[in-house]
Amino acid sequence: MSKGNIGVTSDNIFPVIKKFLYSDHEIFLRELISNAVDATQKLKTLSSVGEVKGDLGDTRVRAIIDKKKKTLTVSDHGIGMTAEEVDKYINQIAFSGAEEFVNKYKDKTEAIIGHFGLGFYSAFMVSKKVEIFSLSYREDAKAVHWSCSGDPEYTMEETIKSERGTDVVLHIDDEFSQYLEDATIEGLLKKYCKFLPVEIAFGKKKEWKDGKEVELDEENIINDVNPAWTRKPSELKDEDYDKFYHELYPTQMDEPLFHIHLNVDYPFNLTGILYFPKIKSNLDVHRNKIQLYCNQVYVTDEVENIVPEYLTLLHGVIDSPDIPLNVSRSYLQSDNNVKKISGYITKKVADKLAELYKADKDAFAKKWDDIKMFIQFGMLTDEKFYEKAKDFALLKNLDSKYATLDEYKEQVKAAQTDKDGNLVLLYTNDADAHYTYIERAKAKGYDVLLMDGELDVHCMSQAEQKDLSPTLSQGEGEQSGHLRFVRIDSDTIENLIKKEDQAKDEYSDEQKEGLRKAFEAFIPKAEKLNYYVSCEAAASDALPVFLTQNEFMRRMKEMSAHQQGMSFYGQMPDSYNLVLNTAHPLIQELVGKMTSEEVQEEVEKKAEKEGDAPTKETVTKTVYTLSGEDERLKQLIDIALLASGQLKGEALAKFVNRSVELL
Ligand code: ADP
Repeated sequence: MSKGNIGVTSDNIFPVIKKFLYSDHEIFLRELISNAVDATQKLKTLSSVGEVKGDLGDTRVRAIIDKKKKTLTVSDHGIGMTAEEVDKYINQIAFSGAEEFVNKYKDKTEAIIGHFGLGFYSAFMVSKKVEIFSLSYREDAKAVHWSCSGDPEYTMEETIKSERGTDVVLHIDDEFSQYLEDATIEGLLKKYCKFLPVEIAFGKKKEWKDGKEVELDEENIINDVNPAWTRKPSELKDEDYDKFYHELYPTQMDEPLFHIHLNVDYPFNLTGILYFPKIKSNLDVHRNKIQLYCNQVYVTDEVENIVPEYLTLLHGVIDSPDIPLNVSRSYLQSDNNVKKISGYITKKVADKLAELYKADKDAFAKKWDDIKMFIQFGMLTDEKFYEKAKDFALLKNLDSKYATLDEYKEQVKAAQTDKDGNLVLLYTNDADAHYTYIERAKAKGYDVLLMDGELDVHCMSQAEQKDLSPTLSQGEGEQSGHLRFVRIDSDTIENLIKKEDQAKDEYSDEQKEGLRKAFEAFIPKAEKLNYYVSCEAAASDALPVFLTQNEFMRRMKEMSAHQQGMSFYGQMPDSYNLVLNTAHPLIQELVGKMTSEEVQEEVEKKAEKEGDAPTKETVTKTVYTLSGEDERLKQLIDIALLASGQLKGEALAKFVNRSVELL
């Protein structure tokens, strides 16, 4: 028997392992199983090149719990280790230079594991003693027994072991007794080892028989050694991808919309499959996440720093040996490989979407509503993705017809370019509520988009900003204008798309002032709600009175709901314009009924020269008033409120009663 000190002069490595790695102690199992799988893979490689002769026999890796002895053993039939190798790999290598490093990075334990491949030593996080029994594949090798009780002292001696391979025996600490429970170990194996390339066995298969769970003779295999992402896309059918999706997310009922098979080996190595899930609610989005693997070993499902944020909404797996594991998150972000990987995934996703769109526009359009959130999120947050996505990002109109922005602009530009050359795209977020406005627009031959998505307002603003270059000039000498999105209820349709031959009314400012005052007297008062009255010659067949809401203010309020630092807009009251349509016969009739009188009014006159005091002046003004029409005014205001869904409760009841009386 030999004794020695593990290749680190200081005693403090074990306290570090125990204390600082405490938070993530379950990874010990992943590390030990990975070592066992590696040793098995190495054996298979040696066999394939003829260095190991004969049948390899049983190559399963097993996790075995012995409750009486309070041990957990990870056993493999891989290449094994000779005494020299144990000395070299376990005693020396793992801790060379560890002391200096530990002192430097005491607080960053994740970096310690990653840096030194503390893999095997993570066993000490949960064990009071660890033993290795190993027999190398080499001819005439002698089996070795290594033992260490959690201090730098170890013992090593020859032992008897008939089967090739390594058993790592963990004498589990009393405070970690959960690792002697079948359910805990099975859970961890399922989490970390589900897709390892060598079969992992844990206990026996169980079956329900006559209401009882009975053990079968067969071993319980945890993993799928050939997960879909490791296979060639040409070998896989759509069904295989769907099947794998459910293997990844056993609780997910819906089929994914489509998948992207990732496969690159230069300048970094990466494979994987990403799925576009069907999202029913916000809750679904975060339940299943992309899983990150390293050579089929599960690492994490926190991929925030590896894939762009909008793609974290996707499902699936990414497997790359080139992503540095176990390092701090901030380090990951600055890693060059990680940056390249993120760029590659973005490009791959965009290319796949472009390909799907080109291949079958109708089929793509059918899926649009389900995938639009990812794409819009990507366009808003990633310029490179925007550049590609603008060619397949779709707009949908009220007839459920889809088109890209460029296609749509072509379709509507003849009708919807205003007199200044601006192209005005009309939209609604609620076709029922805006019914009358939509009818007005349609009557003029305009098209209306449906923009009811959470990110639509942001995307419209983005498109407007991108379009600030003049592209819409329709001919020589014509002024070039810009792209604007306006909600259908934000002004009269005549004002939304102003044309040269716009109708004007003949009324004087005094008459309009009188009319406004008459209506203002009956405007409903409500908190955080303002109504402003104005006169417009809209059209004789439009409503006599209607409401509009300023596009800019409303959009700012909507965006403030999603964005920090915009709460100023969120607190502003809602304001609406109550438009009196002077082109309508009813309003014209009311103007006709107004009476006028001349009044003298004193007004302040601006000083002619700077510094002089202002002077006062008396002017004669014509003041118009309307009387005897109160019920009619109330009724007209209520109709406007009703048409935009704002007449409710008591006000609605009063309106109904008044209507009956009027009849
Ligand atoms: P890493 O796996 O990162 O190299 P470890 O500390 O986990 O670090 O292991 C150190 C070395 O010990 C491995 O590289 C391998 O050579 C050897 N080793 C560990 N476990 C086994 C095993 N089950 N069979 C054969 N060799 C092993």
